[in-house]
Amino acid sequence: MSERIEANGKANGKGKPLVEIKNLKKYFPIHQGLLFQRQVGAVKAVDGVSLTIRRGETLGLVGESGCGKSTTGRTILHLQRPTDGEVVFDGQPLGKLAPNDLRRMRRHFQMIFQDPYASLNPRMTVGDIVGEPLQVHGLAKGRALTERVQELLRTVGLDPYFVSRYPHEFSGGQRQRIGIARAIAVHPDFIVCDEPISALDVSIRAQILNLLEALQQQFNLTYLFIAHDLAVVRHISDRVAVMYLGKIVELADRDALYENPKHPYTKALLSAVPIPSPKVERKRERIILTGDAPSPANPPAGCPFHTRCPIMQKGLCNVQVPEWREIVPGQWVSCHLAT
Ligand code: SF4
Repeated sequence: MSERIEANGKANGKGKPLVEIKNLKKYFPIHQGLLFQRQVGAVKAVDGVSLTIRRGETLGLVGESGCGKSTTGRTILHLQRPTDGEVVFDGQPLGKLAPNDLRRMRRHFQMIFQDPYASLNPRMTVGDIVGEPLQVHGLAKGRALTERVQELLRTVGLDPYFVSRYPHEFSGGQRQRIGIARAIAVHPDFIVCDEPISALDVSIRAQILNLLEALQQQFNLTYLFIAHDLAVVRHISDRVAVMYLGKIVELADRDALYENPKHPYTKALLSAVPIPSPKVERKRERIILTGDAPSPANPPAGCPFHTRCPIMQKGLCNVQVPEWREIVPGQWVSCHLAT
């Protein structure tokens, strides 16, 4: 890597682009006919996403379920091949790497999954689960491997003597800690956190969030934090991108987005978030979106949000795709009428 960050927390190049996502698309073909041989369409799960994630930051990615957030995360990491577009990681276009080089590169980007029950192999011990990436990348073996796994367990707040236990012996929060230990084992630069706390008990969510924040500080990690809980995203993110029907519709610094959202969809999402102060909460105006989000297999023409937008302008919004524009410095929006 051009600017490797050492585990002692000393940061190089903080704030510089680490991951550049350019017009990323992920379409899933729809097949029909005898033996499903004929392609009759495609589900456009990710449809032209462009984002830059800066080293050391947390970029929140929010939107309703089914809008393409998780597919975006997986496609960025090339766990699924993009249909089109490019991901440049620390200056290296991932799509141009030979399979072996991509495999080697993988130690620099990892993923934490939503479901700590499904994401850990029930037949492997904790030691094998956490040690596997170290072995795959040839970073440790024998006694050094065991010691490294024990050190990782300690780092995520687990007893190092748990190495020989199996996932079913742990609570949801502990399993997510095991998943986090596995993700940080190879000293990655970038982690996609895919709804890492939404499957957990409310009482332990804050602990896992605090752990993720502490690890980010300690190892200068860069996060893409995917979630549908806007309060959580506000807590953890430096900047936030809002996704609708496979596209990013707004991107801004966290405070700008939450205090002054520009896109009608962002406004509607935020209007549903309860405010802790009872006085302010009483005055909160709820924007209720009518209808369901359209199918990503058949997205509407023009602005993808026009079928549900409360201020949609006929003849414009349903015909013309809005431009992606910087409405105020650092705040980007895709809406004809946003001011
Ligand atoms: Fe609404 Fe039109 Fe803006 Fe789309 S472009 S969000 S339909 S006002």
